[in-house]
Parts: sequence; structure tokens; C-alpha cells
Amino acid sequence: MAQKIQAVRGMNDVLPAESHRWEYFESVLRAWLADYGYHNIRTPIVEATPLFVRSIGEVTDIVEKEMYSFTDSLNGDPLTLRPEGTAGTLRAVIEHNLLYNTTQKLWYTGPMFRHERPQKGRYRQFNQIGVEALGMNGPDIDAEIIAMTAELWRRLGLADSVQLEINTLGNKEERAAHREALIKHLEGYVDILDEDGKRRLYSNPLRVLDTKNPALQEMANAAPRLIDYLGEASRAHYEGWKGMIDALGIRYVENPRLVRGLDYYNLSVFEWVTTELGSQGTVCAGGRYDGLIEQLGGKPAPGIGFGMGMERVLLLLDEKGLLPARPAADVFIVNQGAGAATYAMQLAQTLRGAGFSVIQNMGDGSFKSQMKKADGSGALVALVIGENEVATAQVVIKPLRMDAAQETVAVASLVAAVSRFKS
Ligand code: ATP
Ligand code: MG
Repeated sequence: MAQKIQAVRGMNDVLPAESHRWEYFESVLRAWLADYGYHNIRTPIVEATPLFVRSIGEVTDIVEKEMYSFTDSLNGDPLTLRPEGTAGTLRAVIEHNLLYNTTQKLWYTGPMFRHERPQKGRYRQFNQIGVEALGMNGPDIDAEIIAMTAELWRRLGLADSVQLEINTLGNKEERAAHREALIKHLEGYVDILDEDGKRRLYSNPLRVLDTKNPALQEMANAAPRLIDYLGEASRAHYEGWKGMIDALGIRYVENPRLVRGLDYYNLSVFEWVTTELGSQGTVCAGGRYDGLIEQLGGKPAPGIGFGMGMERVLLLLDEKGLLPARPAADVFIVNQGAGAATYAMQLAQTLRGAGFSVIQNMGDGSFKSQMKKADGSGALVALVIGENEVATAQVVIKPLRMDAAQETVAVASLVAAVSRFKS
């Protein structure tokens, strides 16, 4: 036998036994996004590498070490499998002039790629659902984004499993002033900084604070806080945002060290986190990126969005027992004997036309083995068709999910008879 070829490490198959879980989640998502007026945008999985370098930032985990980048072997173009969805969405918005005299509320979903160490809740190909609200200055849209994510948790039954953390990153000038003070502070701890910290001291000091290293907590806690460097406008934006979230009765924790792993954020940033998935606790993360569209060559326009890790939400739903069982067909038709297969196919057609889902057993098999399949399929009823039923234009209905006797009905009353089993 030839040697088997396996999937790439960290890239998973979704098998038929669990794909209905994705379909359930996606259907909840689609209804929810429509309820808030978002429209779907579908962009390529591959983009020019500079798009990500310029937007996400040179000194970030993603660009420094997680991107699947390669050279197009035919024309030498530097290309990258998208590690996130905002850059490509904005590239398309700019390219197609979607913000000309208007605003946009867009959502996307699909696979993202990051070369990370695979573990529970962290993969090399994973899926995100994300939204981008463009052309609105906030803080009302910032608050609506929080409200809509809170509403999703409510619809999924996860309201008590996730907590909201928020922060503000101010504007460029405020970050620059804070940065100077922060670098001074960090220089006092050079000896204990880890390798990443040392490297980022001057290139991205804010990220040095975003450390999980216990030895660095004291240093991080004592660091100058960005919030103390905010001017009036930034402060007002933050207060306005919080005021609306308060008014909606949504609980949150202010986390002055929440900085996010991508460079394009300003003002409002937030994460929804859970303690129930180990260290992969962030299920949804986002914020405002008012300078990004201009940075990517578009006419200046504000924006805010978030990305949600779908595998992590599904893990959480699974852990809480909140995922539906695999849906079954309404009717399973067993058939045997001359003319039975054709007759069964005609009845299946009639039933599907009346709104039932139908599986017809194909090929051979004794009635007994076919009935076993019918039962295992989870269908509500089995229809039994043999030569006798074909000859008399009748059909035997056998309830599979309730304790009731089987009955024989004429074909003309089949739809009405089956309807009684479907609530
Ligand atoms: P983390 O701190 O967990 O690495 P991140 O800050 O890199 O997350 P974002 O770039 O903000 O994550 O992506 C948004 C969301 O996508 C995350 O909150 C998470 O739910 C999900 N996500 C990110 N990376 C992965 C991954 N490798 N595998 C699965 N989900 C991921
Ligand atoms: Mg990451």
C-alpha cells in the first residue's frame, strides 16, 4: 500500500460528525449580523505580503513570526496567507471605493493562518468571524459593537461564561508621550526583561506590558499608565463609550494593560475572555483603528471592528453542552423487492415536495438490516415498502421515536399521515 499523506500540523478537518455544529453556529451568526445591519464581504485568502506588514505592524508577533509568507514561484510576488481579516477587508474597501460618501458595516468569515504552536484553542489554520464598521467616529458605534457581541453570547447561552475587558489607547500623540515615560520605566528593569521584552523595549514598549510572565508583573503594574496621558478628546470618547455600555447594563472590567497584539488600534479596545478554556481565553477581540484606512492608501476614515475565534467559541459551547445534536432526516424509506426502489423514489419525491427530509435506502439489504439503519439514522419514521405495498399502492409507516404501532396507509394520505409525527 502507498504511504498515507496526512493533514498539515495545526490544520484540522471538520468531519461530518461535527460539521452540523459549525452550521448551527454559522446560522446563529448570520441572523445576528443581519439584525445589526451588517453585510457580508468575501475577500481572497492570499494577499500581497506588504498589506499585512503595513497594517498589523513590523514589530508584532504575527508579522515577526507567525505569517505563512511565500514567493509566487511564477512571478516572484511576495504573498501571504491572511493571518487576520481586517487588512484584506480594508484593502477591498479602498480598492472598490466603498466609503465614497457613505459608511459601511461589513462582516466576513473564513480561515486565517498563523504559524503558532498548536494546542487546544490555538491552531495554524483557524476560523474567524469578524465585523468592520467604517466611517463612524463613535463612541456610539463602539458601544453598539459591545452590545451586539453581548447579544451574541446571550443567544448562544454563553452570557455567564465570558467577561468583557475594555481599555483606551488614546491617539498617536498621547501614545508617543506615554511611550517616552514607559521606556524610561522599562529601562530600570532591563535585567529582568525576557528576550521578547528586551527586543521590544524601544520598538514596541506597550507590548512589553502585555506579558504573562509572572516575574514581570510587578514591573508591569508599576508602569506609567496610558490613561494618565490622555487629552480631553480621548478621555471624552472613553467616558462616552463607558457611559453607553453602563446604560445598557453590560458589565465590564477596565484593564489598563489591554493593548492588543496588532499595531493599528487607537482609542477603544476590548476583549471578551473566558476562564474556561485554559490559557487560550480570548474568544473575541477588537477595537478602533482610525488611522488604518489612510495608512493603507485610502481617504482618511475612521473604523472599528473585532475578530472572533470560532473554534474557541465552539469549544466553549461544547464544554457547556450547548451544541445541538446532529440533525436527522424526518423519514427513512426501507424497500425491497420488484418495483420497490422506483416506488420508494416516487414517494420520497412527494414527501420532499411537502417539506420533509427523506433518506431512501439504496441497494440491497434485508428488511431487518435496513430497519437497523433506519433506526440509527435518527429519523422520526420509517416507511416500509415491499412488493405488496407496490401492488396495493399503500405504504407501511413505522414510528421510530415514539411508542406507537405501525400502520398501513394509502399513498394518497401519506403526507397527512407522516405530518402527525413532526411537531
Ligand atoms: P492570542 O492572544 O490568543 O494569541 P491574538 O491577540 O493573537 O490572540 P487576534 O489577532 O486578536 O488574536 O485574533 C482574534 C481572535 O482570533 C482571538 O481572540 C482568538 O479567539 C482567535 N485566534 C487568534 N489566533 C488563533 C489561533 N492560532 N487559533 C485559534 N484561534 C485564534
Ligand atoms: Mg496571537
